[in-house]
Amino acid sequence: MSKRDYYEVLGVSKNATKDEIKKAYRKLSKQYHPDINKEADANEKFKEISEANEVLSDDQKRAQYDQFGHTDPNQGFGGFGGGGGFGGFEDIFETFFGGGGGRRRDPNAPRQGADLQYTMTLNFEEAVFGKETTIEIPREESCDTCHGSGAKPGTKPETCSHCNGSGQLNVEQNTPFGRIVNRRVCHYCNGTGKMIIDKCSTCSGSGRVKKHKKINVKIPAGVDDGQQLRVTGQGEAGVNGGPSGDLYVVFRVRSHEFFERDGDDIYCEMPLTFAQAALGDEIEVPTLHGKVKLKIPAGTQSGTRFRLRGKGVPNVRGYGQGDQHIEVRVITPTKLSDEQRDLLRSFSELSGTGTPDEQHDSFFAKVKRAFKGD
Ligand SMILES: [Zn+2]
Ligand SMILES: [Zn+2]
Repeated sequence: MSKRDYYEVLGVSKNATKDEIKKAYRKLSKQYHPDINKEADANEKFKEISEANEVLSDDQKRAQYDQFGHTDPNQGFGGFGGGGGFGGFEDIFETFFGGGGGRRRDPNAPRQGADLQYTMTLNFEEAVFGKETTIEIPREESCDTCHGSGAKPGTKPETCSHCNGSGQLNVEQNTPFGRIVNRRVCHYCNGTGKMIIDKCSTCSGSGRVKKHKKINVKIPAGVDDGQQLRVTGQGEAGVNGGPSGDLYVVFRVRSHEFFERDGDDIYCEMPLTFAQAALGDEIEVPTLHGKVKLKIPAGTQSGTRFRLRGKGVPNVRGYGQGDQHIEVRVITPTKLSDEQRDLLRSFSELSGTGTPDEQHDSFFAKVKRAFKGD
């Protein structure tokens, strides 16, 4: 079947303005609307009008049509192409009369249960090494007494007498096209098509009950603050045979009094005496994996960082292990015995008469210069 020219369909000239097209479409769509016009070919006419309007009211599509004419209807300009019958109609009406976007949800269709979230506080080591634990979460489940039907045991939900089980009611409305019948969800049965006469006493007819459920959770080593773990299928029960939702366990990790964590790396500070820093030493450093010996070279400055490879946190995805970083702090003694004081005085006098220490000398030279400029 060859298509009629779109301008001819709307009865406008090739030079018609947008306004003229709009007016022509309005007039014709009222005239041929299948709810008003009961002639056999009204459907076809209306489709043709709508398609013509869709193209001619869009500048880009109109320009393309002017240049190339009709294209393959299957790859056409969208809209009313494809398929017989009049399937698109409900959609138009829902848009016109405030039915909202999208299709109406069937209340009897299987639906996935809601996801649940559970916050778990871990101490520092638990996060680093992981653990297995049991948590108790309140969640909705299918009622055991009535097996989810909501009806008292021995009775059954009955067919809703208002909608005869269809879940929908016909509502008449006056529209610019005349009186039309619109379908609405039956508010007596909320669209389920069923009425519960004798309600189950356990769940008050809802078919669902809140339960405290114990769930075993395996926390992987290396989780960090703010990360979450999904436990599949442990959320709330599905509706009408739908799958359960998921449970998300969100971790909060307590801080440690000695270690700090950044990703998979651990940071800490270690105190050194002046003598250890000056003479060098081997010290013991606590790590998450036990004590480790660390060699401090002679002449180590306060603030120097050392790294212990692989002594950090195991990566939560299994990509190796972080490091531990140690920053040494030289601690100035605040209490000295008489003997210590005497020794330090001697040391100071020796330093003052010029120990060959370049770093020491240049630093003090800078200080001296600063005072001179005063
Ligand atoms: Zn029940
Ligand atoms: Zn009903």
